[in-house]
Amino acid sequence: MAAFGSLSTRLTETLAKLRTKGKLSASDVDGTVREIRRALLDADVALDVVKSFTAAVRERALGAEVSEALNPAQQVVKIVNDELVGILGGESRQLQLAKQPPTVIMLAGLQGAGKTTLAGKLAKHLRGQGHTPLLVASDLQRPNAVTQLQVVGGQAGVPVFAPEPGNGVGDPVRVAREGVAEATRKQHDIVIVDTAGRLGVDADMMRQAADIRKAVQPDEVLFVIDAMIGQDAVATAKAFQEGVDFTGVVLTKLDGDARGGAALSIRGVTGKPIMYASTGETLDDFEPFHPDRMASRILD
Ligand code: GDP
Repeated sequence: MAAFGSLSTRLTETLAKLRTKGKLSASDVDGTVREIRRALLDADVALDVVKSFTAAVRERALGAEVSEALNPAQQVVKIVNDELVGILGGESRQLQLAKQPPTVIMLAGLQGAGKTTLAGKLAKHLRGQGHTPLLVASDLQRPNAVTQLQVVGGQAGVPVFAPEPGNGVGDPVRVAREGVAEATRKQHDIVIVDTAGRLGVDADMMRQAADIRKAVQPDEVLFVIDAMIGQDAVATAKAFQEGVDFTGVVLTKLDGDARGGAALSIRGVTGKPIMYASTGETLDDFEPFHPDRMASRILD
């Protein structure tokens, strides 16, 4: 995964050095933990997350687990792997489907995070699972957003509910409400509501997203975040958590080659599960997020 490229290289190099040692001394462990700490910080992982991560690795590596192990180096690799799985959320979480369809999924996030693209990806993925999603164009902020959603909807083979010209234009809450009503009427089992972002955290955007949330009572609110925005990711995630609240996270642009460590902070900072990953611009560059698989890819 490109976004974790340099972090991955540094962690694997650090851990590889242990292999030449028979038994590990406390200073071997400290040296390794220091290198892990630097690698995580350089990758933009949030300080709090780095601290708790390295403390856990150190404690376990110095403890009985390693001193009693036949192969201490492998044991440390396992500990780092377990802790990575932990900060990525442990178990993967499935979409919560409503008992009474349609299941309403609302997308929230900054402009450019990849919400509209994600809407298409998710719709295609769900359609592939036999669902009958409807996309709803409630991003009326960005001039092209409605057309863009119609394009990705076309590619995904999923219909798009959009405001009629002159009717409801400018009122994203109304479009969202009507979109959900349309889904109920036409028996779509899932509705995906795309909402407007702004370039930065903005009170108007939060109010609008909160209003949409209130109007359509979504079963899932997915916070879509560009893994490439580095340290800002933490503040942005917290702002959305307070302003809109969300039930899950989608990481986008994991194919980018910037420092993707922010992605490793999101779960720890918000306590919300990462549910999907977006890894490119085409609709198939998308996958359900599995913490264990991601951790092994990082340590591969
Ligand atoms: P929105 O403003 O949140 O709706 O963002 P868009 O869906 O319009 O995406 C913004 C830009 O990022 C577009 O040029 C997308 O093609 C691009 N994009 C979205 N997701 C990804 C991704 O996972 N990887 C890459 N490389 N580009 C992406």
